[in-house]
Amino acid sequence: MKLSLLGHDYQYAVEQIMLVLFPEERPEPLTEQTPEQAGSLCRSELTFQSGKACVKTWLYRDGKSSCGLASVPAPDPADKLVYDRVLQRAVKQSFYKAALPLLDKKPDWGALTGIRPAKLASRALEEGLTEEETVHRFQEEYFVSPQRTRLAMEAAKAGLEAKRSLRPEELSLYVGIPFCPTRCAYCSFVSADVQRALKLVEPFLEALDREIDAAAELLPRAGAVIRSVYMGGGTPTTLSASQLDHLLGHIRTAFDLSRLSEFTVEAGRPDTITADKLAVLRKHGVDRISVNPQSMEDEVLRAMGRAHTAADILSAYRLVREADFPAVNMDLIAGLPKDTVEGFQYTLDTVLGLDPENVTVHTLALKKGSRLMLEPQSLPSGEDTARMLDYAWSRLEGAGYRPYYLYRQKYMSGALENIGWCKPGFEGLYNICIMEELHTILALGAGGSTKLTDPSTGKIVRLTNPKYPFEYIQRIDQLCREKEALVPFCQALRSKEV
Ligand code: SF4
Repeated sequence: MKLSLLGHDYQYAVEQIMLVLFPEERPEPLTEQTPEQAGSLCRSELTFQSGKACVKTWLYRDGKSSCGLASVPAPDPADKLVYDRVLQRAVKQSFYKAALPLLDKKPDWGALTGIRPAKLASRALEEGLTEEETVHRFQEEYFVSPQRTRLAMEAAKAGLEAKRSLRPEELSLYVGIPFCPTRCAYCSFVSADVQRALKLVEPFLEALDREIDAAAELLPRAGAVIRSVYMGGGTPTTLSASQLDHLLGHIRTAFDLSRLSEFTVEAGRPDTITADKLAVLRKHGVDRISVNPQSMEDEVLRAMGRAHTAADILSAYRLVREADFPAVNMDLIAGLPKDTVEGFQYTLDTVLGLDPENVTVHTLALKKGSRLMLEPQSLPSGEDTARMLDYAWSRLEGAGYRPYYLYRQKYMSGALENIGWCKPGFEGLYNICIMEELHTILALGAGGSTKLTDPSTGKIVRLTNPKYPFEYIQRIDQLCREKEALVPFCQALRSKEV
């Protein structure tokens, strides 16, 4: 879509709302063309009149045109942060109003573009707004549907509850294991050449040992203690039982885990789960595990590039239950290639029959670099994906689960969301901490980002580890050195508290 801005330069705000409402469009600069030549066009104009800031958006798409107007009391330019926030919101509101007549369906998340809707709600509550006022803001300023507003409010409350349980010196540890047995069609993370990558497992683990030692030496100096550990990837259980034994043993001896309240390992792929690996995880205190079917239909699993069947998922789940993990999560994806509403309903009913403590329902996001982007297959429509999510919503609520964290991603089918559901008392602390950005996340291994978080200002400094094992191994010395930033950062936070 060609973009033309007049009277403001909030291009990013226009692009964000455009991508949410018209995910197939990409922003392009305006050239000298008529609307018919441009194909699709947006003109966004800001003017000030009689103490009001007015934004008018004119959209032209598929031969149809439409106009939207938003008007707000003109903000004080002396407070740049508030000034920009108010005007950007008006820019998005007017775009949204212009877009409505061009859309098949009113978007559930209205004009909200951020990936963390619950954080917006919890911030409003913390700033002193009542629940009613926060709900009003969601529905009247962002045009969010009542159902999605309720979802954001529930997740916000779970976030605030988690926040109250945290102490200032606590942080979470993430360990990224970038290996999988095969590559899923929607994955942009794991290297296309899985077999070549697997040859790097041993040198990767040696490098990770060094990073663990370096981080363990920093934490006492930083005055920080670990509250939760999350091992993700990739699929950590791609490692052998003895490799897992060594790695988890090293984590347990290197760090002070006396304040640990949660230790999660993703065992996403059932084809990597064995009784001896599960015994190793339990021996080292892992108390949450994720077994991720994504679908319980063999045809859909095949289309995803998974080398296992739905029956394998049931066997793996039985092994996990026999190993006595206190909490099991199962991930599902709505909108997968070859899936149907009925198929998804079958998947959800089957998973609910297994009675896991957590169910995370994702919406398929088409990521750059994934095989699905390169070889598009028959995907369910955004409308069908929305029906899948509606079904999940009513079945999970009916079965006593509640939504406790959520996030949205770019290029999601139907511009929807990912929701973590849990039985009461089984909220995953790490998931809340990372989505609500409640405290520092120290990330080791491949693919993670350390987020040095100042909860009082919301400021975050990111230190990114490479995504692929080869780069990680090559840069290990530098990565260990970069983590030194944790010490002055935590010390500065401590001195603010005094
Ligand atoms: S299990 Fe996850 S990380 Fe591994 S290939 Fe599939 S989507 Fe990618």
